[in-house]
Amino acid sequence: SVPAAITSGISAGTRRGLLIKGGAALEQIGRVTTVAFDKTGTLTVGRPQVTDVHGVTLPREGVLRLAGAVEAGSSHPLAKAVLAAAREAGLSLPPATDARARAGHGVQATVEGRTLHVSSPRAAAALLTPDLAARIAAFEEDGKTAVVLHDAHEALGILAVRDEAREDARAAIADLNALGVKAVMLTGDNARTAHAIAGGLNLDVQADLLPEDKLRVIDALKAQGSVAMIGDGINDAPALARADVGVAMGGGTDVALETADAALLRERVGGVPDLIRLSRATMGNIR
Ligand code: ADP
Ligand code: MG
Repeated sequence: SVPAAITSGISAGTRRGLLIKGGAALEQIGRVTTVAFDKTGTLTVGRPQVTDVHGVTLPREGVLRLAGAVEAGSSHPLAKAVLAAAREAGLSLPPATDARARAGHGVQATVEGRTLHVSSPRAAAALLTPDLAARIAAFEEDGKTAVVLHDAHEALGILAVRDEAREDARAAIADLNALGVKAVMLTGDNARTAHAIAGGLNLDVQADLLPEDKLRVIDALKAQGSVAMIGDGINDAPALARADVGVAMGGGTDVALETADAALLRERVGGVPDLIRLSRATMGNIR
């Protein structure tokens, strides 16, 4: 019977680390024509490391110390990387007040009486000399994400952070393509870094997206077919909800897990083609 087939499909998923929240989700995922992936924490491991610190008006330790202070209140993966680097360097961070996130742009806080920002190069573009812009471009060509420590008037320093693509990302995307499903990366990160990370993965890249832009891209993809969104962060929850099927990376935040229709408990990108195959097999048994 139909309910029995669905129930056994869902339990087959559970055995393989694919948590499917009900029959409707199981049915829908096999019809997906496009899979949109968040970059950080979904296609990448999501544990970025600071690789370079460049001082402009300060020595490198000063850059790390102030950037760490500004990032102390943020849960963004970039913030965690900066804080870990400051800790490893044995720096004690000055207190920060009035900490505030600027979604898709960076964070700001008051430290030692000054309002400081850690921002994307795009958000800090007006403060970048040609030399700094070239340095940042070189980091980005290398697949690193650069952020700028600055005040209202000038850049104080630059930090570069690297995150690695998940080991199985390439095979998983080849697998999706073999299933006739298109893959797209959606990211708030810049296009150079996004393309460097996507290199050889064979997927479309949509970069420089603000949170609301991601929803617009999902709507545009939905106009052409059925869309699954795969994400891990709090900031991915609206996109997971907007897609026809939202799938959370199991190691992600509770908000993503709650919003999603399914979750990949083993944190493999390959869970996505597995879900599609399981859905198609289950629905094929019913028809
Ligand atoms: P993603 O699509 O990777 O989740 P976000 O929208 O969270 O991207 O961030 C986009 C960009 O905004 C980052 O690449 C970074 O340049 C900047 N940014 C966001 N949050 C922070 C932060 N806490 N510290 C520094 N930069 C940040
Ligand atoms: Mg993410």
